[in-house]
Amino acid sequence: MTSHIEQSTDLRLTNSIRFAVVIGSGVMGAGIAAHLANAGIRSLMLDIVPRELTAKEEAKGLTLESPEVRNRIASENRQKLLKQNPAPLATADHLNFIEVGNLEDDLERLKEADWVIEVVVERLDVKQQLFEKIAPYIREDAILSSNTSGISIEAMASALPEGLKSRFLGTHFFNPPRYLKLLELIPTEKTARPVIDFMSRFAEDRLGKGVVEAKDTPNFIGNRIGTYGLLVTFEEMLKQNASIGEMDSITGPLIGRPKSATFRTLDVVGIDTFVHVAGNVYETLEAGAEKDTFDVPSEMKQLVEKGWIGQKAGQGFYKKEGKVIQELNLQTFEYEQLKAITGPELDQIKSLPGSKAKLKGAILNKGRVGQLLWPITAKTLAYSARLTGEIADTIVAIDDAMKWGFGWKFGPFEMWDALGVEKSVERMKAEGYDVPAWIDEMLAAGNTSFYKGDQYYDKASKTYVEKTVNPKELKLKPLAKSNGIILENGGARLVDIGDDVVALEFTSPNNAIGVDIMQMIEQSIDRVEQDFKGMVLANDGKNFCVGANLAMMLMEAEDENWFELDWIINKFQQVVQKIRYSSRPVVAAPYGMTLGGGTEISLPAARMQAALETYMGLVEVGVGLIPGGGGNVNMYRRLLEQTPKTMQNIEKAAQQTFENIAMAKVSKSAFDAKTLGYHRAVDGISMNRDHLTFDAKQTVLELADGYTAPVREKLPVVGQTGKATLELAAYEMFYGGYISEHDLKIAKKLAHVISGGDLAYGTLVDEQYFLDIEREAFLSLIGEPKSQQRMQHMLVKGKPLRN
Ligand code: NAD
Repeated sequence: MTSHIEQSTDLRLTNSIRFAVVIGSGVMGAGIAAHLANAGIRSLMLDIVPRELTAKEEAKGLTLESPEVRNRIASENRQKLLKQNPAPLATADHLNFIEVGNLEDDLERLKEADWVIEVVVERLDVKQQLFEKIAPYIREDAILSSNTSGISIEAMASALPEGLKSRFLGTHFFNPPRYLKLLELIPTEKTARPVIDFMSRFAEDRLGKGVVEAKDTPNFIGNRIGTYGLLVTFEEMLKQNASIGEMDSITGPLIGRPKSATFRTLDVVGIDTFVHVAGNVYETLEAGAEKDTFDVPSEMKQLVEKGWIGQKAGQGFYKKEGKVIQELNLQTFEYEQLKAITGPELDQIKSLPGSKAKLKGAILNKGRVGQLLWPITAKTLAYSARLTGEIADTIVAIDDAMKWGFGWKFGPFEMWDALGVEKSVERMKAEGYDVPAWIDEMLAAGNTSFYKGDQYYDKASKTYVEKTVNPKELKLKPLAKSNGIILENGGARLVDIGDDVVALEFTSPNNAIGVDIMQMIEQSIDRVEQDFKGMVLANDGKNFCVGANLAMMLMEAEDENWFELDWIINKFQQVVQKIRYSSRPVVAAPYGMTLGGGTEISLPAARMQAALETYMGLVEVGVGLIPGGGGNVNMYRRLLEQTPKTMQNIEKAAQQTFENIAMAKVSKSAFDAKTLGYHRAVDGISMNRDHLTFDAKQTVLELADGYTAPVREKLPVVGQTGKATLELAAYEMFYGGYISEHDLKIAKKLAHVISGGDLAYGTLVDEQYFLDIEREAFLSLIGEPKSQQRMQHMLVKGKPLRN
């Protein structure tokens, strides 16, 4: 520890990362460069110089000295970023942030870098040689790191000059870097504390990562426990004669894990990669039970030998034959019909309320589900406990790593709390699981859970310690508790988030917008206009809002309650306009799926502050409708506002509004939402979803002083002639066989609303006129049997029906 303090006294450290050099342009290097680009950080990606010409290069008359050839590897890998799925770049334009070069001609450019990250092949000798080569070019305030998944950071540091050691650490990103939140930071004995703190803050604030500090042990935190968990699952499957499909049917969402559960995940990751990662731990362990577990089962080795390594090979634990997915029989090595555990026992667990209850119900179940899950869980929890202190100082780091790196809803210690620590420890011991002594001590002292509110049990001090939280993490639930709820009804509540700013949070199932939310928005704005600086539309669930309450609307439509429906839609429109004309700024903070009504309430806000991962769109046509909450006029206005109102621009705005809605265009990121016009240049983007409410609140505070609501303006329409153009496009799609007759009907209604109906080209109309024709079109469509079938289908199947 003292070494950190001594080191930091003469430490020179950059104050910002503006330019990075990424060495190695493979899967991870290119993915990291892409994510840096998403964060607005320029980079130079370097790779090795090819030793041979390709046939194409030869044909072009190029030589091994041509720059095009010398940069080929990085250059081709850069280009591949545009084709990968899921997309590493939030928008294709971001490719411009990435330059390419090679490790012979461009070493001088390392001097420009604030951060140099090594992402080359996983070999210590290669990495050490590279470090020796690049060290002289690294600026004396720059940071150097390695993305190794498991090689000792200390061993790598030994290749570095003394002066650089305090600025060197492990920065372990997970694949794919844009989407997986976890970043493990692994300091060495000599890494200066300010360097760790700086990188931690940088990664959280600018890259949007969830940072955990890991110790320099094989595979660090996530991959150590993750591989162990997979290996014991495999072991239990063989022991209890279960199939791959059966294991996956109970190790996924049932226990708060991703849908891909165990073996589907392995197929995606690559069984070869997994075998390599597990082998890495195996190599370093002393003989014993743990080493035995990490001795990869022969079946997996056989799969690697056969090249059946998962998705990239077209087969692994699963194989897709046409549309049918088959599972591998590990005895015969043939693919056969997919199996799953089913039955009343499982149905009963699934019907338990909430994910914690399901988790507990499944693991403690007395039948087959529990027989399979209990030993896997008991082993993984005891293992996590045994490694606490060795791989990470705190249980929080272990829980966070598993949640952020593997998409678990609960980390091991959170799971343990959900199961009940005392009882499960008793059972584990009775059954001979190796529970470490510190857990006994904890229980003996009367501490019966790992977490207590915002505190966690700290193994070292044997007390509960407050979790350290980045001040930018504003969570609504605790805020509601600490600061108070100002207004509340069955669908939403208004929470005081401090500094005279409030947040309106939806509490309805799936955050679907119903009448109660509309009323809460109305009341909240009235209240905010009297007592507060402004309001954020913020949520904390999985998605911001996937639209209006479809079930409620379908019910009204099936009962032919046209009067009620007219009232509801009118209400929605008025509420949305109230957001726009609020005398205090309202800032919408969308993230995740922000569809239909979710987009409609965001469009009129004074500003949007969107998370990088925002999938936004007016998708009503999928359920046979068009937007009914002012979405048409607000989309149109948003596009109009961004250009001078020439006739040509008015036509363009109408055209793009029509396309966005008729084709239900959903943004693939917040940057893409800008391209589509949902998001404007003035709107903000938060890289870190957990900082979104904070960032939106800052925007309210920035706007509050001197804020005035927009004035009500008339808007020019393209009228009858414009409508004809829009309809023509729809007819072309119809005759081309791209859309159905019902789609055509919807498109014509949409064209009518966007063009302002049957008015003359260029007529100026007020907003209420737009809203009235929107409501009329919406109501006529919701009365259509085919639209109702679409709504029904969406509610039951969760996807659009094409009829
Ligand atoms: P990769 O094979 O896709 O890319 C490796 C790159 O290194 C290639 O572009 C290659 O040309 C380059 N390279 C090879 N020899 C080199 C040399 N002598 N000098 C410089 N560059 C050289 O590998 P990857 O999956 O991107 O892994 C890179 C690093 O990231 C490894 O340390 C790996 O353990 C780690 N990692 C990988 C993953 C993953 O899921 N793939 C996840 C986290 C960390």
